[in-house]
Amino acid sequence: MQFIFVTGGVLSSVGKGILTSSIGKMLQTRGYTVTAVKVDPYVNVDAGTMNPYIHGEVYVTDDGGETDLDLGWYERFMDINLPTDNNITTGQIYQTVINKERRGDFLGRCVQIVPHVTNEIKRRIRFVAEKEKVDVVLTECGGTVGDIEGLPFLEAIRQMRLEEGYENTLYVHVALVPILDVTMEMKTKPLQHSVNELRRIGIQPDTIVARCTKMIDSEALRKIALFGTIPEEAVFCSYNVPSVYQVPLILDNQGMGDYICKRLRLPDKKPQWSQWNEFVDAISKPRFEVVVALVGKYAGLVDSYVSMSEALRHGGASCQTRVTIDYIEAEEFERQPNKLEILQKYNGIFIPYGFGPRGTEGKIAAIRYARENDIPFLGICYGFQLAVVEFARNVCRLENANSTEINPDTPHPVIDLMPEQRSIQHKGASMRLGAHNIIVEENTIAYRLYCATEIYERHRHRWEVNADYKETLEKHGLIFSGKSPDRRRMEILELPDKYFFFASQFHGEFKSRPGKPDPEYYGFVKACLDKKLEKPRSQF
Ligand code: GLN
Repeated sequence: MQFIFVTGGVLSSVGKGILTSSIGKMLQTRGYTVTAVKVDPYVNVDAGTMNPYIHGEVYVTDDGGETDLDLGWYERFMDINLPTDNNITTGQIYQTVINKERRGDFLGRCVQIVPHVTNEIKRRIRFVAEKEKVDVVLTECGGTVGDIEGLPFLEAIRQMRLEEGYENTLYVHVALVPILDVTMEMKTKPLQHSVNELRRIGIQPDTIVARCTKMIDSEALRKIALFGTIPEEAVFCSYNVPSVYQVPLILDNQGMGDYICKRLRLPDKKPQWSQWNEFVDAISKPRFEVVVALVGKYAGLVDSYVSMSEALRHGGASCQTRVTIDYIEAEEFERQPNKLEILQKYNGIFIPYGFGPRGTEGKIAAIRYARENDIPFLGICYGFQLAVVEFARNVCRLENANSTEINPDTPHPVIDLMPEQRSIQHKGASMRLGAHNIIVEENTIAYRLYCATEIYERHRHRWEVNADYKETLEKHGLIFSGKSPDRRRMEILELPDKYFFFASQFHGEFKSRPGKPDPEYYGFVKACLDKKLEKPRSQF
C-alpha cells in the first residue's frame, strides 16, 4: 500500500482539500483505488461542536460522523462514501491515549507525545488503510506547517516514511505564491520559508504545488525547484480556475498524475477523463442561468453552506444551467420587512440548515413569500421545519405556532424535540445523525424525483414534526411524502398545488456528486429554470 501526505504552507485555505481530492481523482482515473483521511489538529473530538461561521459547515457521513468539510470534497471528487474514521482529530487521539493510560495499558511508563501520541496517530492512519484495502491512502494534514498543534501529526507522518519505505510514501506540499500588485512579480519566498519549516521537522517534500492566481512563470518554477531541492518536473501550479472541478485536469495536464505514479512505482496507465470532462464541460459551458436566494444565518461565510451550494451546482449541470447563489442574511428581513420584495427577482428561494432562534423569523417570512408568490422553494432540515411553522401559522391559522427550539412556550409546538433527545445532556455526537431509510409515498413529487419507494439519506437534527399536528397540517393541504419506515417521523413535505414547494428533514446535499445530482436539488434547479422559461409546471 502507498501513502501520500499533503501539507500546506504560508496560510490556511490554500486549497489542500481540493488538491488532495484532485490527486485522488488523478489516481482513480488511472484505475487505482484510493481513500482519503483528514487529520485535524484541533482538540475538539469532532467537528460537530464547532460553529460553522468559524470553521465552515459540518459534513455528515453515512455512518453518522460529524466531520471536517474536506471529507465532502473527497466524497464528491472521488465518488466514494467515507466512514467517520477517516477524520482524525487531536481530540480523538488524546482521548484514546488518556483512556489507555487510565486503564493501565502503558504499564507504568511515562506517557509522552513521542512515541505514544505519534504512535496512536500512525495506528489510526494504518487502521483506515487496512480496513479499506485500497492502492493509495491520501492523508491531508489540516492547518499550516509551523503551527504548534500540527507538530505531532507531522512527526507521525515523518516516521511513516521510515516504516513504510521511501518508494511507498510521497510528501506533497502546497503553498501560496502571491503576486505583488505593484510589480506584478510572483513571490516564492513565503513558499521557500514554509518548505524550510517542513525540513526543520525532518520532512523533505517530494513535490511542491504552488497555489497562485495565475500559472507560475518559468523563473518562479525554477526557484521553487532549486530552493525546494526537487526536480523542476516535480513542481506544479494550482492556479485559479472558474470551477474547482477543473483543478485535477489542470494538474494532470502539467504531468502531476504521471509524476506521482512514477515516483510511487505504480504502473503507468492512461487516465480516463471522459466522464469527468463531460461534467466539467456541463458546468463550465451552461446554456441557461438561474439565480437563487439562499436565506441563512451564516450567509457571511460561503464555506458554511459548501455542500449545499455544490449540490445546487450539480443539479444545474444536469440541466445545462449555471446556478448563481445570492447569500442573504435572514435577519435583514426582520430588520426591514419591506426588503422581502427583493425576493421577487429570484428564480428560487432556498432555506438551508440552521440552529437556534437567530434569523428564524426572517427565514419564515422568506418561506411565506415563496409560497404566496409561487417562487420555487427548497428547504433543508431547519428549512423543512420552518416551512412547517410557516404553514401552521399562515395556512392552518395556528397563531404563534413555532418550534420549541425557538420558543419553548409556543402554544402550538408544531416542531418539537424528538423524544429520544429529551434526556440528552452531552452536546457532542448526540443528534440524530447519519443515513436512515425513508419510505417515499407513490404519486407524489418526491416519488417522481427519486423514482423509488425507499431511499437512504443523511440526517443531523434534534427536532422533528410533532405528530400531534400531522392531521391538521395535512387537512390544510400539506403532503408528507416521505416518512420513516414506522411512519412516525416526517421526512419530506410538498405542496402539490405550487410550482415547486419541497422540503426535507434530511440533507440530500451530502450524497450529491458531480454528474449524479441529488434528486431534490436537481428538482429544485429544474423547477427554477422551467419557471424562468415560463414552461408550464415541469414533470415533477
Ligand atoms: N436545529 C434543527 C434541529 O436540530 C435543525 C438542524 C439542521 O438544520 N441541521 O432539529
